[in-house]
Amino acid sequence: MLYIFVNGKILDSESPAIKVFDRGMVFGDGLYDVIKLQNGNFIFLEDHIERMKKSAKFFGIKFPYDLEEIYEIGQKLSKMNDLKEGELYLQLTRGVDIIRDHVFEDDYEPTFVEIVQPVRKMNPEIWQVGARVLLHPDLRHNFCEHKTTDLLPNVIAKKYVRSRGAYEALMFRSDEVGKYVTEGASSSYIFFDGEKIIAPKIENILPGITRIKVLWLAKEMDIEIEERRVYIDELLKMKEVILLSTLSRVLPIIKVENFEFKKGEIAKKLDIAFMDLCASHLSVK
Ligand code: PMP
Repeated sequence: MLYIFVNGKILDSESPAIKVFDRGMVFGDGLYDVIKLQNGNFIFLEDHIERMKKSAKFFGIKFPYDLEEIYEIGQKLSKMNDLKEGELYLQLTRGVDIIRDHVFEDDYEPTFVEIVQPVRKMNPEIWQVGARVLLHPDLRHNFCEHKTTDLLPNVIAKKYVRSRGAYEALMFRSDEVGKYVTEGASSSYIFFDGEKIIAPKIENILPGITRIKVLWLAKEMDIEIEERRVYIDELLKMKEVILLSTLSRVLPIIKVENFEFKKGEIAKKLDIAFMDLCASHLSVK
């Protein structure tokens, strides 16, 4: 049994807690976030909440709890579920309709869900060995700077790669020049060209918290950083392809489709620095 939090109540995860006309269920009218639980700490909780709050404001969804309350609920769930390692999942939807209707007023009471669950299983060797990714078109909307719950294109992209034995999608969109990298189905990418790190610009992609922290660490290491569109044609010239996310950390990519890359020093250095940063992070008291 897993204890979860829904709108002020701690419940068994199997209990019927969400109403059928919840706009999150009917329209994907909501936001979510995933935070790593490491040694009892919610890593970079403040940054995740800040990002979620900003998006809630953008979409006009009420944000019902403050950082300390979310932290306290998370701590309570970790204790009740006896989990010190895992992931904290937050979901916020606009609220519940009386009947299905696209139109919404401004006075909804939002639905807020907090879950602490065991971390999804990953083979720890993956950071030593590296992972393979496959190209997939980015079929999403123009709200990708927000972590919205309507994830169908990402779910389809993830299924596509996993059913072919790869780890993640490397998604792309097209402009007048060619195909350019956006992000993964649930991750960000950066590249190392031998001299500098090149990060796809934040234009309709998620400002990943791992991306922000890793670019900061790279700057501290005096590595030059360039933020711009990265075209698929250019990938062949890159020395390292690096995947970033809360759960995957800094993961070297050794194959894009069948094209091979070296598992390089930059990914390794950044992952060590990132793990140190996570280990020294203490979330709100
Ligand atoms: N892009 C997308 C689409 C994602 O779902 C995620 C994972 N939350 C990321 C990037 C990486 O973000 P973060 O570093 O905040 O986990």
